Amino acid sequence: MATQEPTTDSILAALAAVPGPDGRTPLPRSGALSEIVVHKGKVYFSIQVDAARAAGLEPLRLAAENAARAVPGVSGAIVSLTGESASAPPAGGGRQPGPRAQAATTKAGVPGVRHIIAVASGKGGVGKSTTAANLALALARLGRKVGILDADIYGPSLPKLFAVADRKPDAVDGRTLKPIEALGVRLMSIGFLVDQEAAMIWRGPMVMSALRQMLHEVAWGDLDVLVVDMPPGTGDAQLTMAQTVPLSGAVIVSTPQDLALIDARRGVAMFEQVAVPVLGVVENMSYFICPHCGERSDIFGHGGARDEALRRGVPFLGEIALDMTIRATSDAGNPVVASSPDGPHAAAYLAIARRVAEGLEAAQRPPPRIVIER
Ligand code: ADP
Repeated sequence: MATQEPTTDSILAALAAVPGPDGRTPLPRSGALSEIVVHKGKVYFSIQVDAARAAGLEPLRLAAENAARAVPGVSGAIVSLTGESASAPPAGGGRQPGPRAQAATTKAGVPGVRHIIAVASGKGGVGKSTTAANLALALARLGRKVGILDADIYGPSLPKLFAVADRKPDAVDGRTLKPIEALGVRLMSIGFLVDQEAAMIWRGPMVMSALRQMLHEVAWGDLDVLVVDMPPGTGDAQLTMAQTVPLSGAVIVSTPQDLALIDARRGVAMFEQVAVPVLGVVENMSYFICPHCGERSDIFGHGGARDEALRRGVPFLGEIALDMTIRATSDAGNPVVASSPDGPHAAAYLAIARRVAEGLEAAQRPPPRIVIER
């Protein structure tokens, strides 16, 4: 007989025995508890706390997690602390912080990780994940220590792209997970942690909990660059992510079609809004080389992304052909930069990776001092 799904009421009842952030008021009445999501025996919620006290409140998080785990029928619980700064009162009594309320969220860096970059797109299907994977592999080829975090809640594709879908990350200790190593890069995907159905029904705070867990409770070790494959689009979830992750910069992937360009424009605007430097735009599926005659055709009207990037004063990082090899190697779990490292596509990704690396260095350098010689 299948075990019955635990109810949110049973979780709330268990949490009543846990004192909230003030040390007295039961957690469910403290105003700090997010909505509780229960899916296939797993329980997800977050506790909103003052950012300055977050480190000291780890025992609270643990107590809440243990209380939820002890409820009959619960097979696992993911609880995380959401840090609000003291000056920002929790929105709606702390139940459902919207993206604006989350603006005050702490952007704690990830120890050992030098740069975190987002790979984003204005809409789905433009090749964002393919670009993120090949960019990560190209950065590794350039000698960087690289990690890749798949935060695409709507369709995590990293496990497939790196042929590791059947693997589960090991735990290093009670909480910390070890990233999976494949093709010379370290990987963590929301797809390893929860099934996709669960991710789809999550509310904003749950997504943020999982994202924070993937950033801060994964033993990334020393990394030069952590590439984050963002969910497509520019809605609230994406905006909140852009605000929460301590990003050094963002790469926008676009196809040459007009519609995608309008979406890409929104992507650029989103990162500008949260003061994350846009490292540049990649035009994917830019042109097509006929496999039979070798003739190039610009089926989508090539060059639109370059023109648009120029107009907006955003760097243009390069163009990638629409080519069966790119698709087939991705499907086979061995993206083209790894499987054909000396081919033309790898060269295009490497050129993009070089520009990204330069952009990161430039963003870090202090502005030049102007010396007036007399
Ligand atoms: P997104 O992450 O934007 O949804 P994906 O990276 O998953 O997009 O790509 C969507 C589909 O298009 C995949 O099947 C992928 O293999 C294919 N694809 C992406 N880029 C290219 C390309 N340059 N040439 C051929 N196929 C591509």
